[in-house]
Amino acid sequence: MSGPCLPLSLDWEDWFQLCCPPFDDPSALDHFEDRLERATDLALEICTEAGALGTWFCLADQAKRHPALLRRIVSNGHRVGLHGLTHQRAFIQDRMAFRQSLVSGKAIIEDLSGAPVLGFRAPEWSLRDNAMEYWQELPALGFTFDSSRAPLKILGDPSWSRRPHRLANRLWELPPPVLGLGPVTVPLWGWAMRVLPTFLLSAELKSLQAEDAGTPLVLHPWELDEGQPLLPQASLGHRFAHRAGLRAYGSRLRKLWSGLRLVSLESWIETKESSEAAESALVLWEAHS
Ligand SMILES: [Zn+2]
Repeated sequence: MSGPCLPLSLDWEDWFQLCCPPFDDPSALDHFEDRLERATDLALEICTEAGALGTWFCLADQAKRHPALLRRIVSNGHRVGLHGLTHQRAFIQDRMAFRQSLVSGKAIIEDLSGAPVLGFRAPEWSLRDNAMEYWQELPALGFTFDSSRAPLKILGDPSWSRRPHRLANRLWELPPPVLGLGPVTVPLWGWAMRVLPTFLLSAELKSLQAEDAGTPLVLHPWELDEGQPLLPQASLGHRFAHRAGLRAYGSRLRKLWSGLRLVSLESWIETKESSEAAESALVLWEAHS
């Protein structure tokens, strides 16, 4: 792999899986229409067209329902990571329960996909509040990177680093991209990607790629499913974040991804580590010559 690229992530969950009751209850999977296969196929299609590969952060409960679909993602050349046992936020669990959910979730995704799981993303960027330090559990369990900490108000903390960096035990943290619009900072995914002017978004994405910023783009397959029902009982804010700009988002995304080289988070990290190793070797060679 050579030349500038951007990591791509996909959060593999169904259209109704908001991170609040009743949508995050494990029983919600029995109560709402299952549209995950349709959405997954749309996402795979757009990736194939764009020559894009990504890391799909998968829910273990959905993997158990859709093992063949999970294997289809892997057979298309994508990588899989863990998005949780269920879509409940990390901070509603105590640390021991969170640790156990990592152990079980990783085993389930690896068994069903036949592929290694190296990365984790908490539902709704929820390694915050009392779960702020939960990432410390990841390295000992075989994870090499996390992508759960958004440098934004409410979802995280604007003071957190906006670029990939290492936490303890060589664990990589890859924060999602954000965009400053005057005094306001917005996520460069979800509703903002669906409603802001495409010229603005396109320029920002190209700039991130040219910089080799390493901030993973984020796509939920359900964002491509224009026929999804309206969410009942959801708050106004949730409805806006969920539905704004859904119409023709696939066409918009095809334009936005044009000219980008999108790779899995694993690939981006491997390339980064190779170039760091080469630089260290050069420094050593220069020091001894
Ligand atoms: Zn999610």
